[in-house]
Amino acid sequence: MKCRRCRAAAVIDLPRHNAAFCTECFRRHCREQVRRALDEHRMVREGERVLVAVSGGKDSLACWDLLRALGIPADGMVIGLGIGDYSRDSTRYARDFAEARGWPLQVVDVRERFGFDVPTAAAATRRAPCGACGLTKRHLFNQVAIEGGYDVLATGHNLDDEAAVLLGNVLHWEEEYLARQRPTLPGRDGFVRKVKPLVRLSERETAAYCVVSGIDYQVEECPMAAGNRHLAYKEALNAVEARSPGTKAAFVAGFWSRAHRRFAEARPEPTLGACTGCGAPTPGTVCAFCRLQARAAG
Ligand code: SF4
Ligand SMILES: [Zn+2]
Ligand SMILES: [Zn+2]
Repeated sequence: MKCRRCRAAAVIDLPRHNAAFCTECFRRHCREQVRRALDEHRMVREGERVLVAVSGGKDSLACWDLLRALGIPADGMVIGLGIGDYSRDSTRYARDFAEARGWPLQVVDVRERFGFDVPTAAAATRRAPCGACGLTKRHLFNQVAIEGGYDVLATGHNLDDEAAVLLGNVLHWEEEYLARQRPTLPGRDGFVRKVKPLVRLSERETAAYCVVSGIDYQVEECPMAAGNRHLAYKEALNAVEARSPGTKAAFVAGFWSRAHRRFAEARPEPTLGACTGCGAPTPGTVCAFCRLQARAAG
């Protein structure tokens, strides 16, 4: 197997691109995919300040590394979610990564800041932990980005994540979510712009990028992920992709170019006011996060 670009021995084959690459050409391919995502979806403008939502896993660390490699001096932020050893180790991977490179990383502990953590919130609400966790992360990342004067919040969602979420939203015809599912969510009324620079890279590519770039990351799955429906959607999509390489990318890209607008037009964004508890933007009087905090902290 030879590298498509330089004919050296290849270390990875990418059936979706009908290509194989050596280490250096593969890293270049990853940078190129991120640069194309940034350009196509107008993610970051010249001089804007970018904060990366870091988890300690492969995707968010690859995202941070690739943005920096493309000349965007992004900072990082990691949240201590309080999920036992898993959270402690994840934060340590993020810290080690940032310290080794001298890149600024903010570490925010949910329990210290809000008086609850993900397991207690899940127990208090009797809901799947990922719901409380996702809400907390979205709220806190946005809050810290606003406080820190950042223009953009970048997350490590990759092509497999986007395809799995899209499949779930289509299977259940979640029109509201479909209206909001896009690689760049414009900032407005107290929300910074949210972008997903890895949407053109698969999970396998981000893992390989970390390995060939010497990036150590948390390989353990979150112990609370069991029952997360997206895992089943990913398996289904992987089965289709194995038979027909390129299906995931076509599914996601086709949705954005051909279908997303119809959902967005049918469901205009609601008018937002300020939450009476925390000041965050909300369509109601008290935001979903403050309602969660009221039930979970106590
Ligand atoms: S799997 Fe669920 S609970 Fe665990 S970190 Fe992810 S969203 Fe949070
Ligand atoms: Zn090469
Ligand atoms: Zn609030």
